[in-house]
Amino acid sequence: MSNDQTPNQYAMQNPLTQYPQPPFPRQEQAEPGLDMKMNPPPDHGEKTYRGFGRLAGRKALITGGDSGIGRAVAIAFAREGADVAINYLPEEEPDAKEVVQLIEEAGRKAFPLPGDLTSESFCKSLIANASKALGGLDILVNVGGKQLTQESIEDITTEQFDATFKTNVYALFWLCKAAVPLMPPGATIVNTASIQSYQPSGGLLDYASTKAAIVGFTKALAEQMAPKGIRVNAVAPGPFWTVLQPTGGQPPEKVVHFGEQLPLKRPGQPAELAPVYVLLASQESSFTTGEVYGVTGGKPTP
Ligand code: NAD
Ligand code: MG
Repeated sequence: MSNDQTPNQYAMQNPLTQYPQPPFPRQEQAEPGLDMKMNPPPDHGEKTYRGFGRLAGRKALITGGDSGIGRAVAIAFAREGADVAINYLPEEEPDAKEVVQLIEEAGRKAFPLPGDLTSESFCKSLIANASKALGGLDILVNVGGKQLTQESIEDITTEQFDATFKTNVYALFWLCKAAVPLMPPGATIVNTASIQSYQPSGGLLDYASTKAAIVGFTKALAEQMAPKGIRVNAVAPGPFWTVLQPTGGQPPEKVVHFGEQLPLKRPGQPAELAPVYVLLASQESSFTTGEVYGVTGGKPTP
């Protein structure tokens, strides 16, 4: 929604009608897809997000930073004063280029670091290269993720199961393991869980399992990192309007009606999530660790 009709996210208004509601035009893309081809375009806060210096001088790495939720986080972090490195897959370069430009327009440094998170050696080098480029690492935001719907367990191949776990869980382990020794007290890790961590859909068996794992991982790592003064939290989004969905994340018919069954009757927009990542990454949440913050459109997490 990067057009003149973009709602002002700070003006009081009815959340039901603040953003586009289903039905949406039918659309499909091959994985991982491009944000710029979505109809209607998601709102990542390009036109609206206002920074208040909450992350002044911080050095952040965001995976999945090219599109969707990660893009909204990258824009918000830069406007809050952080330099930002983003990871994404090489085929997502057109989306990533736009994000680099937005970070630079905010007056911050942007470091695009493409590569495949399913490789342990890549994850290690990503942390090393991000830290080198940024001059340290204060914030690691794990947003990159894979979601492919299948009706039956019999339709999930071992390759899919493995790729979903590698992307969503193993990468998290490899990235955090490499990042923690570089992080100073006050540093933060923010992971991306899901409503699927708690209310799994039958058609997202492998994905929902990874998202439940991320909740356990977040809580255990938070306890382990507390003595070092490193806080670890997660965000659990409900349905958000991102390219994850029309690239096999949902059956095409469900994309048309995405968000309809929620109390707020529409999917969330990435711009509505970024402020929570800012809160958890910044010193404002200094007494919060091991928590999972739900942003679900009215389907509360436990
Ligand atoms: P998105 O497609 O814009 O973002 C996912 C990103 O993951 C991609 O941009 C890609 O860069 C990255 N990625 C996937 N496989 C990768 C790999 N092998 N190596 C490197 N990067 C890889 O969609 P999104 O909805 O913004 O997803 C971001 C996160 O939010 C995911 O973890 C997803 O599970 C989570 N989430 C999304 C929703 C939703 O409804 N959209 C709901 C709950 C949780
Ligand atoms: Mg993408």
